[in-house]
Amino acid sequence: MKPPIPVRVGEEEMHEDRYSRFRLIPWWDQTKLQAARVLVIGAGALGNEILKNLVLLGFERIVVVDLDKIEESNLSRTILYRSSDVGSFKADVAARSVKALAPEAKVKALVANVVQDCGLGLFAWSDVIIAGLDNREARLWINRCAWKMNKPWIDGAIEGINGVARVFVAGSAPCYECTLGETYWKLLEQRMSCNLLLREANTEGKVATTPTISSVIAGIEVQEAVKLLHGMPTLASSGFVFEGLNHTSYKVDYTANPDCMSHFTFESVTELPQESSEWTLEDLRQRGAKELDAQVVVEFSRDIVHELQCPECGAREEIFAPVGSIRHEQGRCRRDGQMRVVKTIHGYGGVEGFGQRTLDKLGLPLYDVFTVRTAEKEKAYLMAGDKSAVLGDQV
Ligand SMILES: [Zn+2]
Ligand SMILES: [Zn+2]
Repeated sequence: MKPPIPVRVGEEEMHEDRYSRFRLIPWWDQTKLQAARVLVIGAGALGNEILKNLVLLGFERIVVVDLDKIEESNLSRTILYRSSDVGSFKADVAARSVKALAPEAKVKALVANVVQDCGLGLFAWSDVIIAGLDNREARLWINRCAWKMNKPWIDGAIEGINGVARVFVAGSAPCYECTLGETYWKLLEQRMSCNLLLREANTEGKVATTPTISSVIAGIEVQEAVKLLHGMPTLASSGFVFEGLNHTSYKVDYTANPDCMSHFTFESVTELPQESSEWTLEDLRQRGAKELDAQVVVEFSRDIVHELQCPECGAREEIFAPVGSIRHEQGRCRRDGQMRVVKTIHGYGGVEGFGQRTLDKLGLPLYDVFTVRTAEKEKAYLMAGDKSAVLGDQV
């Protein structure tokens, strides 16, 4: 005969509601999950399971980011999508579906590429970031943003019936970038060296995955988020590896790389209440110069395409667009058909001709962070006035 399950009879436990079984777990605090702001990046096989787990657990404040549309071949691994959803954006349908599972959940869908279209404000908003991605560039980007904004993030990776879940806490190395070997950097360099226009080829590959492994790994990811939010020990700086074929699972500890470029956290971030459209670059530079009492440069959160230059006729076209957003055909000179050279910029020093541009006209996302810098000091400004334009007023 099975021993009876001990049930504590405190007032809280006797109250039967959707979450009453969770409250039987001694350390569980449902209010922590209700209040937590979770940024879910990717709404594919892992993302579906992550979102499903989050709402079943009673998380109520979720932002989901994905650029892609649902394809027929996704349906074997995506509990939140139906045949009739093929052709719709994953983020939109995922948000709608989880709201049907838990009507009190507030879920904001962002049809966006995290590297090009998401301001650092999204990271500032989050308590924890959970990723369900299949490419390293996006992970590396998330890792750097999470460190900058001092937020923990949880990664998952699956292939075949194997997978790994890992936790990275900003400020405490090793981080995701520390885990990347030399081969990775060589491959990345090769891909980037040709021409920045070719970056569009860096989209996700077609990885062999099953709904069984995505549920295992996404389950661990969300469980780690729950532990993290309760202040319990997690997989921080290590990974949980699961090999489905041999039923092997183990924890792997990573080694910190002293030369890692990701280990940077803003000391503080000043929130500017205005919208990006209300500030020119020059305004911001002057504000920073005044506050730091020195000559400063304004640094962007990421490179942007400033110009396309023709090596044949010398013609220049001003662009201001995210790197990777310029399609290959657009790269050709209209006069002579030559492939033009992409000139990128990463900031503004006070003398360039574009100082009167407003911050929303630079090809950078809204709700982003601008850094004002001298050789020794820096100040980070978050364009907090953009928040409702990006996230609405729900989450
Ligand atoms: Zn690192
Ligand atoms: Zn030309």
